[in-house]
Amino acid sequence: MKKVLILEDEVNIRSFVVINLKRAGYDVIEAGTGMEALDKLQKNPDIGVAILDVMLPDIDGFEVCRRIRASSMPIGVIMLTARSQEMDKVTGLMTGADDYVTKPFSPAELTARIDALFRRIGGPDKKIESELLMQGDFVMNTRNHTLKKDGERIRLTQVEYAIMKLFMQNPGKAISREDILAHVWGREYNGDLKIVDVNIRRLRIKIEENPQNPTFITTVWGFGYKWGQ
Ligand code: CA
Repeated sequence: MKKVLILEDEVNIRSFVVINLKRAGYDVIEAGTGMEALDKLQKNPDIGVAILDVMLPDIDGFEVCRRIRASSMPIGVIMLTARSQEMDKVTGLMTGADDYVTKPFSPAELTARIDALFRRIGGPDKKIESELLMQGDFVMNTRNHTLKKDGERIRLTQVEYAIMKLFMQNPGKAISREDILAHVWGREYNGDLKIVDVNIRRLRIKIEENPQNPTFITTVWGFGYKWGQ
C-alpha cells in the first residue's frame, strides 16, 4: 500500500485529509508538528509522499521540506498553502517541494496531486532499468536516479530529476514549457506554467557555473528551454 504522511496542526483539517486519503486507498501517517513529522519520516522510510502544511506551532513546513531535502530521503513533497500566500508557492518550490495545493482544497484535488506525484517518482513495483545517460560533464544513472557533474553528486528533487532526464534524452532539442509540464507533471495537471520556470531556475543554480548566464540549460525565448548546444 502506498504510504503518505500528512503534517497539519489543525486537527479538523488533518482528520478530513486522513479520512479521504484512507478512503482513496492510502496508508496514512499523521503528524501535528514539524519535529513529529521528521521523526515519523525517519521511522517510516517507506513513506512515498509527504504533505506539509506551512503554518505550524514549531518549525514551519518550508523548514521541514528543507530538512527532508538535506537528508537523502527519496520522497515527494506537496505543500499546503493558503490562498493569500502566493509567495509561499515560490518559496516552497525553492526549498524543494514538488507541488503545492492551495487551501481550501477538495479531497479529489489532493488525491489527484498525490497520485500524479507517485506516478512521477515511481512506486516500489516500478520496473528496474539500468541505464547511464552521459553527456559532457554529466552522468545520469536512471536506475538509482542520481546525477553527477564532473564526478560530483548533484542533489535533485524528484521533479528536477525528471526534467533533467527529459533534457538528457533530448540533447540539442528545444522543448516547450507546455511539453515539459505535460511530461513531468502529467497531462491532467492543471497548474501554472510558472512551476516549470521555477524548477528550471533551481536546476540552473545547482548545475550552471553562472546561473545568470546559463550554458547548459538555455532559454528559447517565447517557447521553452534547450539542453546542450
Ligand atoms: Ca497550520
